[in-house]
Amino acid sequence: MTYFCTLASGSAGNCSLYVNGRQRMLVDAGKNTRYINDCLRQLALSVSDLTHILITHSHGDHVAALPVLLKHTRATLVCSGETFSAIAPRLPQGVPVRLFEPGEGFWLGDVPVKTFATSHDAPGSCGFVLGQGSDRVAVCTDLGTVTGEIFESMRGSRAVLLECNHDAEMVKNGPYPFPLKARILSDQGHLSNKFAAKVAVRLCQTGTKHLLLAHLSAENNEPRLALDTVRAALREAGVEADVSLAPREMPGEPVLL
Ligand SMILES: [Zn+2]
Ligand SMILES: [Zn+2]
Repeated sequence: MTYFCTLASGSAGNCSLYVNGRQRMLVDAGKNTRYINDCLRQLALSVSDLTHILITHSHGDHVAALPVLLKHTRATLVCSGETFSAIAPRLPQGVPVRLFEPGEGFWLGDVPVKTFATSHDAPGSCGFVLGQGSDRVAVCTDLGTVTGEIFESMRGSRAVLLECNHDAEMVKNGPYPFPLKARILSDQGHLSNKFAAKVAVRLCQTGTKHLLLAHLSAENNEPRLALDTVRAALREAGVEADVSLAPREMPGEPVLL
């Protein structure tokens, strides 16, 4: 059975799970080990069942669990060389690691993996496309923009975890100090609802059936607003997809592929 399930999403921690046959891959490991294990238990798994832990980038909301988690699993850590350089000092010794350059493709067991570089303020940050055909899932969060190259990597993915971080007007009119507003709105920051909606339309025109809206800002977004913005854009373009929100602090509904 193949499925994809988010375990947590947002600036307080990001983590999701992709299960394809015998491969059980965690994508990002924000939150902590107990939280992740509790979520996995709800799916009849535990951290010792994981085969790989893939990391998009070195920010704490994506790696916080690693120092402890890696002591409780034999899973291979999979990340870019630059991400590894940033996090290695905090990790236990002797962990099995598979390093790559963003843009590279490779196999993890019998699952093909594509990676793509993302524009974000963490060196070596990337997104992932896992599986093939109707099993294909893309993880696309923590990036300021979606380039043609990124879109081509994701094209045809059945399910996409897509960042829908903020409403640009809420950022501009909100309480954040100017440098932080500028960072969020920049090409190295996070995707807005409107930008994500445009990407969502194009994805659905190329075969995406499930959109999971991710990494919503608690201060600069509203779940309803993110959902409505994406759904309205799909309706206007005459395309259909199942659109849901990746919950902040609990596992989402598993998407069966
Ligand atoms: Zn993040
Ligand atoms: Zn980040």
